[in-house]
Amino acid sequence: MTPRITLLAGGVGGAKLAEGLAAIYPPERLSIIGNVADDQEFHGLWVSPDIDTLTYSLANLIDRKQGWGLTGESHRVLAGLERLGCETWMSLGDQDMATHIFRTQLRHQGIRPSAIAQKIAESLGVTINLLLPTDDPLQTRVRTEQGWLAFQEYFVRERCLPEVQEVRFEGATEARATPEALAAIKTADIVLIAPSNPVVSIAPILAVPGIRRALETTRAVRVAVSPLIGGRTVKGPADRMLSAMGYPCSNLGVAASYTGLLDGLVIDQDDGADRAELEAKDLRVMTMATLMTRAEEKARVAEETIAFADTFRREREEVEA
Ligand code: GDP
Ligand code: CA
Repeated sequence: MTPRITLLAGGVGGAKLAEGLAAIYPPERLSIIGNVADDQEFHGLWVSPDIDTLTYSLANLIDRKQGWGLTGESHRVLAGLERLGCETWMSLGDQDMATHIFRTQLRHQGIRPSAIAQKIAESLGVTINLLLPTDDPLQTRVRTEQGWLAFQEYFVRERCLPEVQEVRFEGATEARATPEALAAIKTADIVLIAPSNPVVSIAPILAVPGIRRALETTRAVRVAVSPLIGGRTVKGPADRMLSAMGYPCSNLGVAASYTGLLDGLVIDQDDGADRAELEAKDLRVMTMATLMTRAEEKARVAEETIAFADTFRREREEVEA
């Protein structure tokens, strides 16, 4: 039987591995749990950047240069909003706006956010199970020298420049996990954590009560792909954020942020020096070229990661047999 795979993913880094998996794996055996804590309301519309990045990437509609937003976008609505005196630092394209109008409309009808996400994905031709960790409000806030900022204020408006002193996930204690996300972790044969920002893309998923526990107790083999290459992020503030949270700014920090949740870690070939120390912490380690720019690279990383996870999944099965 083809192993069932569940991927935990943020936005751009998450979408790269998601695309690689989608290219080589049967969609009905693949589930993706995305991050909703970056969501924010703009111009009365509910925007869900990480979920849209996943959806647009898997639909092959993403703007490949930016890594987010739709390809061939115009920004006439935004220009109109600017004329009306609105703040327009969140660059929402015209077609993208349609997604947010649709999402907001369905939310007002009381439809579950995860059903809306799945509906948008299906409408764009995505056949993979795209799941949300929770249908309840969950919002990342970061404390900087300017005080507490909403995540998009920090990430987009302030371009990640202020030093992050503290991170909190508003709503996490009251949030209920979706039964679909819990089931996808519990019934998976392999759970993968994408090369996403551990502090603000994966941690908010894990902060939903029940999700971390499901990952601790699942029978699945659990493997993360590190978002660091040569000890640095490819893009974005994950390296600085790990340091700010008191973790080493290396794969040791990535592993530490996932303590108790991992059987294996895929690290880049440039970070082979981290291997011994990671293995001393009881982690299986695989080194490979993890930079994913072209479609072939995404598929190869997906394939090698599955093969790595599958070797010790089989070993485990043999021990139990
Ligand atoms: P965001 O939500 O759009 O910020 O994206 P994610 O949290 O999913 O991913 C951000 C992380 O992806 C950054 O820390 C990057 O270092 C990492 N990343 C981006 N591209 C690659 C890649 O090609 N390979 C690896 N290993 N990591 C990547
Ligand atoms: Ca994000």
